[in-house]
Amino acid sequence: MNIIDLRSDTVTHPTPAMRKAMAEAELGDDVFGEDPTINRLQELAAARLGKEAGLLVPSGTMGNLAAVLTHCGRGDEVIMGHSGHTFIYEAGGISALGGVHPFTLPNQPDGTLKLEDIQDAIRTENVHFPTSRLVILENTQNRCGGVPLTAAYTRQVADLAHAHDMKLHLDGARIFNAAAALGVPVSELTAPADSITFCLSKGLCAPVGSVLCGSKEFIARARRIRKQLGGGMRQAGVLAAAGIVALEQMTDRLVEDHQRARRLAELLAQIPGMALQAGSPASNMIFCYLTDAVKLEAQTVAQRAAEQGVKIGLNGTRGFRIVLHYWVDDAAVERTAAVLRQVLA
Ligand SMILES: *Cc1c(COP(=O)(O)O)cnc(C)c1O
Repeated sequence: MNIIDLRSDTVTHPTPAMRKAMAEAELGDDVFGEDPTINRLQELAAARLGKEAGLLVPSGTMGNLAAVLTHCGRGDEVIMGHSGHTFIYEAGGISALGGVHPFTLPNQPDGTLKLEDIQDAIRTENVHFPTSRLVILENTQNRCGGVPLTAAYTRQVADLAHAHDMKLHLDGARIFNAAAALGVPVSELTAPADSITFCLSKGLCAPVGSVLCGSKEFIARARRIRKQLGGGMRQAGVLAAAGIVALEQMTDRLVEDHQRARRLAELLAQIPGMALQAGSPASNMIFCYLTDAVKLEAQTVAQRAAEQGVKIGLNGTRGFRIVLHYWVDDAAVERTAAVLRQVLA
């Protein structure tokens, strides 16, 4: 049976062009700074994001952690959304390893943090308080529906942070999806931020890797932190080669995933018992849920669909997250809707 895997865009495999580039990649020892393929990827990534320098890291989690540890010291505080990846899904790394304190604010349904909330969260000078050092935004915001944050909003947050001698880090794991959804160059979205992490894996299909970008001075310090975290890799140009293909060939096509998300959402909305979350899909993710008319739990529905070769993600006891990506074509979209219609019949 041909499996259609819509649980996440993390399930993507490298494209044939990537496998070829990986096989042929020129390599060196990157801890010595001598892997030409990694150096090329880092320059390419920095140029695309409008930053001075880039640093290949094994995962987005390490990219965000290295960024926080570069910006902050022990006892410093980071303002972030309560639905943020950095808060929920990174095993508390900033606290466990960095002694950095998170100040969480409610993410609004559109993925933003209220400017007033950020303003109120920034500490005054007082011996009782941690020192406010950094704000983190996530673009696209996953838990809020894969919603993109605009350049104008990002600029407002950056201005607020900078006015208080703080920095802005962008968790841009899916920043190219945000750019595709908004129809703007990615550099517009990243310009206000002091640092940004984005994933080469996920929708861009590389097997491994994220890139952290920022100023030359920032990346030089982050390189040492990456080494401390055990992220100094040697001939990882085999991975960077796929990353170069990701940046050169895979970003412009993300609009196709968004179109398919809209098509699948239309089909799902026609299934009795299935409803779309307001505003969904905003990019490559569909958030939907079972109406009260359905007696089955979401888990049972997902399991029955999986038995027919369609894997979807769960979102609580009544909801689903369904993620479109390169390996899901038009036929798979139609089959997914047909299978879910049958399961709910
Ligand atoms: C996937 C993701 C990351 C990084 O995850 P890794 O699995 O460590 O690469 C960070 N932030 C967001 C929003 C993500 O979706």
